[in-house]
Amino acid sequence: MTSLLQIAPTIASYFGVRLVSPAHPIEQILKFAYSHYPVPHTVTLVVIDSLDLELYYELGNELRTVHELVEQHGLLFECDTVSNHTTPAIASILTGLEPESHGIFTSDDVGKSKIKSILELMEEEGKQTCAVIERKGAEPLIGKLSYVYGVKDREGMDIIEYDKIIKEHTISILRNVEPVQMVFSHIRTIDRFAHRGWDLRLAATVTDGNIREIVDAVAAREGLLLICGDHQAHLRDRSRGVGVRGVGKVPLIVTAPPRIIASGS
Ligand SMILES: [Zn+2]
Repeated sequence: MTSLLQIAPTIASYFGVRLVSPAHPIEQILKFAYSHYPVPHTVTLVVIDSLDLELYYELGNELRTVHELVEQHGLLFECDTVSNHTTPAIASILTGLEPESHGIFTSDDVGKSKIKSILELMEEEGKQTCAVIERKGAEPLIGKLSYVYGVKDREGMDIIEYDKIIKEHTISILRNVEPVQMVFSHIRTIDRFAHRGWDLRLAATVTDGNIREIVDAVAAREGLLLICGDHQAHLRDRSRGVGVRGVGKVPLIVTAPPRIIASGS
């Protein structure tokens, strides 16, 4: 049994940072991480909004890069979710706490919360971190993290442009900022398309293209890449049990993409 709550404790353990959580680090990830990089290298964590386990498999052709990462150089975990909503789910991913413990349900709560994310805890230990997220969610982090890129939200199909900008900032920090040790980004095209009932194959193709470029940038600097979903997709045309607590499964992918593979794409 693996949970999204274990991601922050795992990253904290890798970097030797103290984080209080009821969840334990995932030992398999730590083994994988230390076997590739005994001295911790940069960890890039990308949340693909609404990528649940069913979509991960259904869209396997479109998400080819992500599947190949798992098959060739990675680990895949099926994580229990903690919420049906993005803000509390991401807060749980970054704090290792259940939503009722971190109390972050809206972007306003992000600014008021006294609970520290793994990014802030790393900063306190003198490690540089970066977040590339939607502007309103980013504002409370300014001054707390070394690098904060807030991207203006966009309506409708322009979410594709939004994700392109998220990807570009993520790549730019990986290429240009040597000391940064953790990069967090959040991409949202699949979520927007799921809500609107639009073509998820197109959304997944766009997302996979963005991931491929991020993989190349991570490979070039030799670091770890973690990719996960945040909650079950809110699909209009799929009848399945999504409980109030939103317990579902999302993939967590852990890879150390090698340079040689990345140079070919
Ligand atoms: Zn979400």
